[in-house]
Amino acid sequence: MSIVPESDRPNPYSAYGAHGSVLVLNSGSSSLKYQLVNPVGGEAIAAGTVERIGESGSSTGIVTHTFAGNRTRRELEVPDHGEALRLALGMFDEIGPRLADAGIYAVGHRVVHGGAEFSGPVVVDDDVVDRIEALVPLAPLHNPANVQGIRVARELLGDVPHVAVFDTAFFQALPAEAYTYAIDREIAREHDVRRYGFHGTSHQYVAGKVARVLGRRVQDLNTIVLHLGNGASASAVRGGVPVDTSMGMTPLEGLVMGTRSGDIDPAVVFHLARNAGMSIDELDTLLNKRSGMLGLSGVNDFRELRQLIDDGDDDAALAFDVYVHRLTKYVGAYAALLGRVDVIAFTAGVGENDAAVRAAVCAGLENFGIAVDADRNAARGGERIISPDWAKTLVMVVPTMEELAIARQCVEAVDGREPTAAVTTG
Ligand code: AMP
Repeated sequence: MSIVPESDRPNPYSAYGAHGSVLVLNSGSSSLKYQLVNPVGGEAIAAGTVERIGESGSSTGIVTHTFAGNRTRRELEVPDHGEALRLALGMFDEIGPRLADAGIYAVGHRVVHGGAEFSGPVVVDDDVVDRIEALVPLAPLHNPANVQGIRVARELLGDVPHVAVFDTAFFQALPAEAYTYAIDREIAREHDVRRYGFHGTSHQYVAGKVARVLGRRVQDLNTIVLHLGNGASASAVRGGVPVDTSMGMTPLEGLVMGTRSGDIDPAVVFHLARNAGMSIDELDTLLNKRSGMLGLSGVNDFRELRQLIDDGDDDAALAFDVYVHRLTKYVGAYAALLGRVDVIAFTAGVGENDAAVRAAVCAGLENFGIAVDADRNAARGGERIISPDWAKTLVMVVPTMEELAIARQCVEAVDGREPTAAVTTG
C-alpha cells in the first residue's frame, strides 16, 4: 500500500508541519496500538487499537479507531499482526484521515528490549530487524511481537522510513554500579545478565518536560520520575542522565505493579519450584501476570481497588499499603543517590490520576522537604505542581506522552535534527 501522495518521497510540506506526521506503532503479543502524531504540535491526529489478535475460539478481534472526536468500533476476525495492520490502515482510508494526505514522514515502532545494542532510536533495515530478533531471549514476552510488527509494517508501508525506538535506550547511560548484578561475572557476561531498565522513553520525556515547564535547563535538575501505570517504574535522573532505575534485566524488578510482583527474594522461585512443583513457565506467569495488585487484592485497576477499600476490603487496603511502602522506599533510596532532589514527577495512569497514591507516598516526608498540598493534589489538569510553596522539592504531575516522544525521536533519527514547524527552503 502506498501512502505517498504524488512523488516518490514523503511530502514534508503537509498540513501537519515541516515534518508531516509520524505513525507510531506498538505491537504487543495480542494487540496493536497505533497513533498518528504531529511531532511538532504534539497532538494525536488519530489513534486506535486492534485487540485480541490471533485469539482462537468464538472471540473475534476488536478494532477501535478515533479521529476528529469520533470513535468507531468494529468486531472482526484478526488472525495475525499483518491483518491487524491492514485493518488499521483500512480504518484510516474509510474514516480518516487518509494517510496519503497526512504527509507521513516516518513509522515509529516501540520496541521493548534493545539490550546493550541500542542506546538510541535507529532507522530500521534488515540488519536492525535481525539484531532486535537476536534479543528475543532477553525479552521473550515482548520482542517477538515487536519484530512481527516491524516486518508487517515494512511490507505494507514500504515508502517511508521506519524507526525503532527502544524502551531500554535511555537507561543505557546508567553507571555500571547501577546496572551490574552482584552475581558471578562470567555467567553474567555470557548470558547478558544485567539491569537494562524500561519505560525509558517516558522517563526521558518526563524529565525533559519538567525542565521545560519550569523554564530550567534539564542539566541543572535532579529529578525522581515515578512512572506508575499498569507497569510501574521509578528513576533517578541527574542533569538529564539516569543514575538508577527500578526495572532490571526485565520489567519484573522494582515497584509493585498491576500484575507484577516487583522486587522479591529470588529464593521464592527456588522454593516454589521445589515445594509447589511449579515449572519455570508457571513461575513466570505467577510473577508477571498473577502478582502485584491483582495477586494481592483480586483487581489491578486502581479505580476498582479504591472501590474495594471504600467497601472495607482488608486485602485491598493491604495491597495499597504494600504498593505505597515500596514506592516510598524507592523515593528515599533515590533521594540518597541524588543527594539533592529538585523534583519528584508522577506520571502514567495511576501517577496522573490517583491523588491518594501521590499523597500517601509523600506523607511523613516533610523533614526531607517533600510534601503534597491537599488542594493542589486534588485539582486536575495537565502539568502541575502539587507541593506547597515552602517545600524544598517540587512535587509535580506530568502527563507522559510516549507516542509523541517516539514520534520526535523518529524525526531526529531520520533527519538528524529536532522536529520543526517552519519549513525553510534553499
Ligand atoms: P497506564 O498503564 O499508564 O495506561 O495506566 C493504567 C492504569 O492506570 C490502570 O490500570 C489504573 O490502575 C490506572 N488509572 C487509570 N485511570 C485512573 C483513574 N482515573 N484513577 C485511578 N487510577 C487510574
